Amino acid sequence: MILLYGADTAQKLKEEISEMLSELNGYIPTLGIVRIGSNPADISYEKGAIKKFESLSLKTKVFEFEENITSEDFVAEFKKINEDDNIDGILLFRPLPEHIDEKKVIDVLNEKKDLDGISYKNIAKVFAGDITGFAPCTAKAVIKILESNDIDLEGKNVVVLGRSMVIGRPVAMLAIQKNATVTICHSKTENLKEVCKRADILIVAIGRAKMINDEYIGKDAIVIDVGINFADGKLCGDVDLENVKNATMATPVPKGVGAVTTSVLAGHLVIAALQRRMY
Ligand code: NAP
Repeated sequence: MILLYGADTAQKLKEEISEMLSELNGYIPTLGIVRIGSNPADISYEKGAIKKFESLSLKTKVFEFEENITSEDFVAEFKKINEDDNIDGILLFRPLPEHIDEKKVIDVLNEKKDLDGISYKNIAKVFAGDITGFAPCTAKAVIKILESNDIDLEGKNVVVLGRSMVIGRPVAMLAIQKNATVTICHSKTENLKEVCKRADILIVAIGRAKMINDEYIGKDAIVIDVGINFADGKLCGDVDLENVKNATMATPVPKGVGAVTTSVLAGHLVIAALQRRMY
Protein backbone atom coordinates (compact mmCIF):
# COMPACT_ATOMS: atom_id res chain seq x y z
CA MET A 1 0.00 0.00 0.00
CA ILE A 2 1.23 3.48 -0.88
CA LEU A 3 0.93 6.00 1.95
CA LEU A 4 -0.18 9.43 0.83
CA TYR A 5 1.69 11.78 3.15
CA GLY A 6 0.24 15.25 3.59
CA ALA A 7 3.71 16.83 3.61
CA ASP A 8 4.15 16.14 -0.11
CA THR A 9 0.91 17.95 -0.93
CA ALA A 10 1.77 20.74 1.53
CA GLN A 11 5.09 21.27 -0.28
CA LYS A 12 3.28 21.69 -3.60
CA LEU A 13 0.84 24.12 -2.00
CA LYS A 14 3.79 26.05 -0.56
CA GLU A 15 5.10 26.62 -4.08
CA GLU A 16 1.68 27.81 -5.26
CA ILE A 17 1.42 30.15 -2.26
CA SER A 18 4.88 31.66 -2.90
CA GLU A 19 3.89 32.36 -6.49
CA MET A 20 0.64 34.05 -5.43
CA LEU A 21 2.49 36.05 -2.74
CA SER A 22 4.81 37.50 -5.34
CA GLU A 23 1.75 39.11 -6.96
CA LEU A 24 1.15 41.09 -3.77
CA ASN A 25 4.25 43.28 -4.35
CA GLY A 26 5.67 42.90 -0.85
CA TYR A 27 2.38 43.10 1.05
CA ILE A 28 2.26 40.41 3.75
CA PRO A 29 -1.29 39.18 4.51
CA THR A 30 -2.42 38.67 8.11
CA LEU A 31 -4.67 35.91 9.43
CA GLY A 32 -6.86 36.79 12.41
CA ILE A 33 -7.28 33.77 14.67
CA VAL A 34 -10.32 34.16 16.90
CA ARG A 35 -10.60 31.90 19.91
CA ILE A 36 -12.88 31.82 22.96
CA GLY A 37 -11.41 29.97 25.93
CA SER A 38 -8.43 27.59 25.84
CA ASN A 39 -9.60 24.29 24.42
CA PRO A 40 -6.39 22.17 24.12
CA ALA A 41 -7.33 21.00 20.60
CA ASP A 42 -7.81 24.63 19.49
CA ILE A 43 -4.52 25.70 21.08
CA SER A 44 -2.71 22.82 19.42
CA TYR A 45 -4.18 23.68 15.99
CA GLU A 46 -3.41 27.37 16.58
CA LYS A 47 0.25 26.66 17.40
CA GLY A 48 0.57 24.51 14.28
CA ALA A 49 -1.05 27.17 12.14
CA ILE A 50 1.19 29.96 13.51
CA LYS A 51 4.29 27.85 12.82
CA LYS A 52 3.13 26.99 9.31
CA PHE A 53 2.27 30.62 8.54
CA GLU A 54 5.68 31.79 9.79
CA SER A 55 7.35 29.28 7.49
CA LEU A 56 5.36 30.75 4.60
CA SER A 57 6.22 34.36 5.60
CA LEU A 58 2.59 35.10 6.48
CA LYS A 59 1.43 36.97 9.58
CA THR A 60 -1.02 35.83 12.24
CA LYS A 61 -2.74 37.75 15.01
CA VAL A 62 -4.53 35.91 17.80
CA PHE A 63 -7.71 37.39 19.31
CA GLU A 64 -8.40 35.49 22.51
CA PHE A 65 -11.55 35.94 24.57
CA GLU A 66 -12.59 34.77 28.00
CA GLU A 67 -15.03 31.85 28.08
CA ASN A 68 -17.56 34.02 29.94
CA ILE A 69 -17.73 36.84 27.38
CA THR A 70 -21.36 37.67 26.65
CA SER A 71 -22.81 36.91 23.25
CA GLU A 72 -23.44 40.63 22.56
CA ASP A 73 -19.89 41.60 23.51
CA PHE A 74 -18.39 38.83 21.41
CA VAL A 75 -20.46 39.74 18.35
CA ALA A 76 -19.35 43.38 18.77
CA GLU A 77 -15.67 42.38 19.09
CA PHE A 78 -15.93 39.98 16.16
CA LYS A 79 -17.44 42.75 14.05
CA LYS A 80 -14.41 44.95 14.81
CA ILE A 81 -12.00 42.19 13.74
CA ASN A 82 -14.04 41.58 10.61
CA GLU A 83 -13.87 45.27 9.70
CA ASP A 84 -10.18 45.66 10.57
CA ASP A 85 -8.43 46.53 7.31
CA ASN A 86 -5.20 44.96 8.57
CA ILE A 87 -6.85 41.53 8.85
CA ASP A 88 -7.13 39.82 5.48
CA GLY A 89 -8.82 36.62 6.63
CA ILE A 90 -10.32 35.06 9.74
CA LEU A 91 -10.15 31.65 11.36
CA LEU A 92 -12.84 31.26 14.03
CA PHE A 93 -12.57 28.27 16.34
CA ARG A 94 -15.85 26.40 16.67
CA PRO A 95 -17.95 25.12 18.23
CA LEU A 96 -18.47 28.34 20.15
CA PRO A 97 -19.59 28.13 23.78
CA GLU A 98 -23.32 27.40 23.97
CA HIS A 99 -24.28 30.86 25.25
CA ILE A 100 -22.79 32.56 22.16
CA ASP A 101 -25.29 33.13 19.35
CA GLU A 102 -23.32 31.47 16.54
CA LYS A 103 -25.76 32.54 13.85
CA LYS A 104 -25.27 36.21 14.76
CA VAL A 105 -21.50 35.77 14.66
CA ILE A 106 -21.59 34.11 11.24
CA ASP A 107 -23.98 36.79 9.95
CA VAL A 108 -21.32 39.38 10.77
CA LEU A 109 -18.53 37.55 8.96
CA ASN A 110 -17.61 38.99 5.55
CA GLU A 111 -17.46 36.02 3.19
CA LYS A 112 -14.34 37.47 1.57
CA LYS A 113 -12.53 37.04 4.91
CA ASP A 114 -14.19 33.72 5.73
CA LEU A 115 -11.25 31.45 4.94
CA ASP A 116 -12.81 28.27 6.38
CA GLY A 117 -16.08 28.37 4.47
CA ILE A 118 -18.51 28.86 7.35
CA SER A 119 -20.52 31.82 6.01
CA TYR A 120 -23.74 31.05 4.19
CA LYS A 121 -22.49 32.71 1.01
CA ASN A 122 -19.40 30.51 0.87
CA ILE A 123 -21.39 27.37 1.68
CA ALA A 124 -23.84 28.24 -1.09
CA LYS A 125 -20.97 28.73 -3.54
CA VAL A 126 -19.46 25.34 -2.66
CA PHE A 127 -22.83 23.68 -3.19
CA ALA A 128 -23.41 25.59 -6.44
CA GLY A 129 -20.03 24.58 -7.80
CA ASP A 130 -18.88 28.24 -7.87
CA ILE A 131 -15.13 28.10 -7.30
CA THR A 132 -14.87 31.77 -6.25
CA GLY A 133 -15.96 30.92 -2.69
CA PHE A 134 -13.80 29.51 0.11
CA ALA A 135 -14.59 25.87 0.89
CA PRO A 136 -13.95 24.48 4.40
CA CYS A 137 -10.18 23.93 4.55
CA THR A 138 -10.25 20.26 5.59
CA ALA A 139 -12.67 19.34 2.82
CA LYS A 140 -10.47 21.11 0.31
CA ALA A 141 -7.35 19.46 1.78
CA VAL A 142 -8.83 16.07 0.88
CA ILE A 143 -9.25 17.13 -2.75
CA LYS A 144 -5.76 18.67 -2.81
CA ILE A 145 -4.21 15.41 -1.61
CA LEU A 146 -5.98 13.50 -4.38
CA GLU A 147 -5.01 16.09 -7.01
CA SER A 148 -1.39 16.32 -5.98
CA ASN A 149 -1.08 12.53 -6.21
CA ASP A 150 -2.59 12.57 -9.73
CA ILE A 151 -5.69 10.70 -8.61
CA ASP A 152 -8.41 11.63 -11.07
CA LEU A 153 -11.94 11.70 -9.64
CA GLU A 154 -13.77 11.85 -12.95
CA GLY A 155 -16.26 9.00 -13.27
CA LYS A 156 -15.03 7.40 -10.03
CA ASN A 157 -17.28 6.04 -7.31
CA VAL A 158 -16.54 8.22 -4.33
CA VAL A 159 -18.13 7.27 -1.02
CA VAL A 160 -18.03 9.89 1.71
CA LEU A 161 -18.53 8.57 5.20
CA GLY A 162 -19.89 11.43 7.33
CA ARG A 163 -22.31 14.26 6.49
CA SER A 164 -21.14 17.19 8.63
CA MET A 165 -21.09 20.72 7.22
CA VAL A 166 -17.37 20.91 7.98
CA ILE A 167 -16.23 17.88 6.03
CA GLY A 168 -18.71 15.30 4.75
CA ARG A 169 -21.10 17.50 2.79
CA PRO A 170 -18.58 20.00 1.36
CA VAL A 171 -16.09 17.30 0.37
CA ALA A 172 -18.93 15.50 -1.44
CA MET A 173 -19.73 18.71 -3.35
CA LEU A 174 -16.07 19.28 -4.23
CA ALA A 175 -15.85 15.69 -5.52
CA ILE A 176 -18.95 16.26 -7.68
CA GLN A 177 -17.23 19.33 -9.13
CA LYS A 178 -14.47 16.94 -10.19
CA ASN A 179 -17.08 14.76 -11.94
CA ALA A 180 -17.07 11.93 -9.41
CA THR A 181 -20.21 9.89 -8.70
CA VAL A 182 -20.75 10.51 -5.01
CA THR A 183 -22.55 8.65 -2.25
CA ILE A 184 -22.82 10.24 1.19
CA CYS A 185 -23.17 7.86 4.15
CA HIS A 186 -23.95 8.52 7.80
CA SER A 187 -24.99 6.78 10.99
CA LYS A 188 -28.38 5.78 9.56
CA THR A 189 -27.05 4.32 6.29
CA GLU A 190 -28.16 0.72 5.77
CA ASN A 191 -25.67 -1.89 4.58
CA LEU A 192 -22.84 0.54 5.29
CA LYS A 193 -20.09 -1.99 4.70
CA GLU A 194 -21.44 -2.97 1.28
CA VAL A 195 -21.91 0.66 0.22
CA CYS A 196 -18.39 1.58 1.33
CA LYS A 197 -16.91 -1.47 -0.37
CA ARG A 198 -18.16 -0.23 -3.74
CA ALA A 199 -16.02 2.90 -3.48
CA ASP A 200 -13.06 3.53 -5.74
CA ILE A 201 -12.23 6.33 -3.34
CA LEU A 202 -13.45 6.15 0.27
CA ILE A 203 -13.32 9.40 2.26
CA VAL A 204 -13.83 8.76 5.95
CA ALA A 205 -14.84 11.56 8.34
CA ILE A 206 -16.82 10.10 11.21
CA GLY A 207 -14.72 10.61 14.33
CA ARG A 208 -14.74 6.91 15.34
CA ALA A 209 -11.28 5.64 16.23
CA LYS A 210 -10.11 2.88 13.86
CA MET A 211 -13.67 1.79 13.01
CA ILE A 212 -13.01 1.31 9.30
CA ASN A 213 -11.28 -1.92 8.33
CA ASP A 214 -11.14 -4.23 5.30
CA GLU A 215 -14.83 -5.08 5.77
CA TYR A 216 -15.56 -1.56 4.50
CA ILE A 217 -12.80 -1.28 1.91
CA GLY A 218 -13.00 -2.72 -1.59
CA LYS A 219 -10.03 -4.27 -3.37
CA ASP A 220 -7.59 -1.59 -4.63
CA ALA A 221 -9.61 1.28 -3.17
CA ILE A 222 -8.02 4.59 -2.24
CA VAL A 223 -8.78 5.60 1.34
CA ILE A 224 -8.61 9.13 2.71
CA ASP A 225 -8.86 9.24 6.49
CA VAL A 226 -9.95 12.60 7.88
CA GLY A 227 -10.56 11.38 11.43
CA ILE A 228 -8.63 12.74 14.37
CA ASN A 229 -9.15 10.65 17.49
CA PHE A 230 -7.27 9.65 20.60
CA ALA A 231 -7.19 5.96 21.49
CA ASP A 232 -4.92 4.52 24.20
CA GLY A 233 -3.36 7.96 24.54
CA LYS A 234 -2.33 8.03 20.89
CA LEU A 235 -3.53 10.07 17.94
CA CYS A 236 -5.29 7.89 15.38
CA GLY A 237 -7.69 8.11 12.47
CA ASP A 238 -11.06 6.56 11.70
CA VAL A 239 -9.32 3.82 9.70
CA ASP A 240 -7.53 0.87 11.26
CA LEU A 241 -4.73 1.33 8.75
CA GLU A 242 -2.26 -1.10 10.33
CA ASN A 243 -4.61 -3.97 9.56
CA VAL A 244 -5.90 -2.81 6.18
CA LYS A 245 -4.83 -4.92 3.22
CA ASN A 246 -7.39 -4.05 0.54
CA ALA A 247 -6.44 -0.43 -0.08
CA THR A 248 -3.94 0.45 -2.75
CA MET A 249 -3.29 3.94 -1.36
CA ALA A 250 -4.24 5.57 1.94
CA THR A 251 -3.51 8.64 4.03
CA PRO A 252 -1.98 7.99 7.45
CA VAL A 253 -3.03 9.67 10.71
CA PRO A 254 -1.08 11.62 11.84
CA LYS A 255 0.82 13.09 8.84
CA GLY A 256 -2.06 12.80 6.39
CA VAL A 257 -4.96 15.19 5.79
CA GLY A 258 -4.21 17.21 8.94
CA ALA A 259 -0.82 18.19 7.52
CA VAL A 260 -2.51 19.83 4.52
CA THR A 261 -5.36 21.72 6.22
CA THR A 262 -3.25 24.67 7.44
CA SER A 263 -1.59 24.93 4.02
CA VAL A 264 -5.03 25.23 2.42
CA LEU A 265 -5.86 27.90 5.01
CA ALA A 266 -2.67 29.78 4.10
CA GLY A 267 -3.55 29.57 0.41
CA HIS A 268 -7.01 30.95 1.15
CA LEU A 269 -5.45 33.84 3.08
CA VAL A 270 -3.27 34.85 0.16
CA ILE A 271 -6.21 34.58 -2.27
CA ALA A 272 -8.31 36.74 0.10
CA ALA A 273 -5.53 39.34 0.26
CA LEU A 274 -5.15 39.32 -3.52
CA GLN A 275 -8.90 39.81 -3.95
CA ARG A 276 -9.04 42.64 -1.43
CA ARG A 277 -5.91 44.49 -2.57
CA MET A 278 -6.07 44.11 -6.32
CA TYR A 279 -9.69 44.30 -7.38
P1 NAP B 1 -19.16 15.20 13.18
O1 NAP B 1 -19.74 16.56 13.00
O2 NAP B 1 -19.26 14.52 14.50
O3 NAP B 1 -19.83 14.27 12.07
C1 NAP B 1 -19.58 12.90 12.04
C2 NAP B 1 -20.36 12.27 10.92
O4 NAP B 1 -20.06 10.87 10.92
C3 NAP B 1 -21.87 12.40 11.08
O5 NAP B 1 -22.45 12.67 9.81
C4 NAP B 1 -22.30 11.03 11.60
O6 NAP B 1 -23.58 10.61 11.15
C5 NAP B 1 -21.27 10.12 10.98
N1 NAP B 1 -21.05 8.93 11.80
C6 NAP B 1 -20.68 8.88 13.10
N2 NAP B 1 -20.59 7.60 13.50
C7 NAP B 1 -20.91 6.83 12.44
C8 NAP B 1 -21.01 5.44 12.23
N3 NAP B 1 -20.75 4.56 13.22
N4 NAP B 1 -21.37 5.02 11.02
C9 NAP B 1 -21.64 5.88 10.02
N5 NAP B 1 -21.56 7.21 10.14
C10 NAP B 1 -21.20 7.68 11.35
O7 NAP B 1 -17.61 15.19 12.83
P2 NAP B 1 -16.76 16.11 11.82
O8 NAP B 1 -16.62 17.48 12.39
O9 NAP B 1 -17.27 15.94 10.44
O10 NAP B 1 -15.33 15.41 11.96
C11 NAP B 1 -15.13 14.08 11.57
C12 NAP B 1 -13.74 13.67 11.96
O11 NAP B 1 -12.78 14.50 11.29
C13 NAP B 1 -13.43 13.84 13.45
O12 NAP B 1 -12.58 12.78 13.86
C14 NAP B 1 -12.68 15.15 13.51
O13 NAP B 1 -11.82 15.23 14.62
C15 NAP B 1 -11.91 15.08 12.24
N6 NAP B 1 -11.43 16.38 11.74
C16 NAP B 1 -10.24 16.40 11.09
C17 NAP B 1 -9.73 17.58 10.59
C18 NAP B 1 -8.40 17.55 9.88
O14 NAP B 1 -7.83 18.60 9.61
N7 NAP B 1 -7.88 16.37 9.55
C19 NAP B 1 -10.46 18.76 10.72
C20 NAP B 1 -11.70 18.72 11.34
C21 NAP B 1 -12.17 17.52 11.85
P3 NAP B 1 -24.95 11.37 11.56
O15 NAP B 1 -24.97 12.62 10.74
O16 NAP B 1 -26.02 10.43 11.19
O17 NAP B 1 -24.84 11.64 13.03
